[in-house]
Formats: sequence, C-alpha cells, structure tokens
Amino acid sequence: MRDQKINKEPKITLLGAGPGDPELLTLKGVKALQTADVVLYDALICEALLAYAPANAIKVYVGKRSGEHSFSQDAINKLMIDYALNYGHVVRLKGGDPFVFGRGYEELDYAASYNIPVNVIPGISSSIGVPGLQQIPVTHRGLSESFWVITGMTSSGEISEDIYQAANSKATVIILMGLKKLPEIVEIFKTSGKHNLPAAVVQNGSSEDEKLVVGTVDSIYDIVKREKIEAPALLIFGEVVSLHPSFKSLIKQYASIA
Ligand code: SAH
Repeated sequence: MRDQKINKEPKITLLGAGPGDPELLTLKGVKALQTADVVLYDALICEALLAYAPANAIKVYVGKRSGEHSFSQDAINKLMIDYALNYGHVVRLKGGDPFVFGRGYEELDYAASYNIPVNVIPGISSSIGVPGLQQIPVTHRGLSESFWVITGMTSSGEISEDIYQAANSKATVIILMGLKKLPEIVEIFKTSGKHNLPAAVVQNGSSEDEKLVVGTVDSIYDIVKREKIEAPALLIFGEVVSLHPSFKSLIKQYASIA
C-alpha cells in the first residue's frame, strides 16, 4: 500500500491548465498541484505541469484522443472518485478552462453525488487566450461588440445550429473542434453573404509548434489544406481578424495583384 493512502480527506480540484504553454497556468493552479495526491490529466495537457505535483503523487493520463477513446467520461468520473476516496486530494487537470467544452460540470456533479467537496480553479480558455496571443482581440471598439464560442461538432456529431445564427451576426465567431467541419462551416458563412469576412485558424496555440493561417471565408479552407493545419485547432471568423499583421500583408498582396 502506498503511504499517501492514510487518513486523507477526499477532495477534488477541477483545474484549468490553460491553452498549452505551461506558464499560462494560474498561481492558484500551481498551489493546488503542489498539494495533489493524485493528478488525472487530459490529452492537451503539457506534461511539464506535472512537475509541480509532489514526486510521489500518482499521475494518471485519462485522455480521450479523438478516434482512440481510451477513457470514457464514465470511466474518468469513477476513477476520480475512487482515487479521492483512497488517496485524498485529486487534481483533475483539464485543458483550457474546465467549463468551456470541458465536461467539467459533469465531473463536479458526479463528485457531489458522493459528497466529495470540489474546488474549481478556472483556466485560460483557448477560445479567448489563443486569439489573444496572436493579438487578435475577440472584441474591439467599432469592429466587434460580442463574440460567440461554439463547438463545431455537437455530441451527436452534427454541426451546431448556433453556427447558422452566429454567421448571420456581426459578432466574432470562435469555433472549437471545428477543423473537420471547416468546409460545411465555410458554406454557412457564404450563405450568409460573408464571402470576404476575415478568417483565421490557429493550430496548437501557445505551444512551440503553434501555426496560424489567415484568409477570408472564401479562401481559408484552401489555405488550411495547403498549410496542412491539424487538430487541435480553433477557427476565428470576424472583422477582428483583419487586425492581425499577416492579414494586412495579405490585403497588400491582393491589392498588388488587382
Ligand atoms: N476546455 C478547453 C476546450 C476543450 S475542447 C478550453 O477552454 O480551451 C478542445 C478543443 O479546443 C480543440 O479541439 C481545439 O478546437 C481547441 N483548443 C484547445 N487548445 C487549443 C490550442 N492550444 N490551440 C488551438 N485550439 C485549441
């Protein structure tokens, strides 16, 4: 039996790790990791963060890589409870913010059904942080009064209905888990007459291998294919993308061709 397994009060911390760069974790997050008996971490987590946890803490990868589905949500919930009851403080380390398409509330709810106290520590969501790191503001006076954060794929695998409404609005539209559906998404924007709306796709935002492409609704899919952009990536549609320096040079290129 491991020595941690003695007289520890079970508790769970749902911790948002931020978009990838380990330095984008909050101080509160570092402190939580330092007192962890167990860390359950997801696929998009930078493993450098595990070094904040004590050397003898148990570290378990519970990623659900698309396709593989190594751990179901149900299995993760059960593991989390089991570890909390047996070892004490479980830090559930999740990418971005736990409540932005992170299924965080399901875990909180499950823990509550066992009367295990849960503490939530928000993280920088990729939805705002990744555009921000690229100096693309999600709102900007005169350009965008609001922003949508939408999933490209709903739990049933369909495209979200919200994208149709968002495409009709003047808001900045940020789409997570949408790369595979990019052709359909682009069509929706075209149907709303937004052919020339600036668009960007960022792969692995905040990591060393970050990649960004910019274009318009009409051109972005070809650019993504040409540049071989892969998941994890997020899509940004909106006038605010025109503020990105590489968009300005794109405009110049087109102006010189025309
Ligand atoms: N809770 C997370 C989002 C989970 S959904 C958050 O708040 O960021 C996972 C999706 O988020 C990915 O498929 C991708 O669309 C997006 N994503 C997460 N991290 C990303 C990153 N570093 N760069 C680009 N997109 C990212």
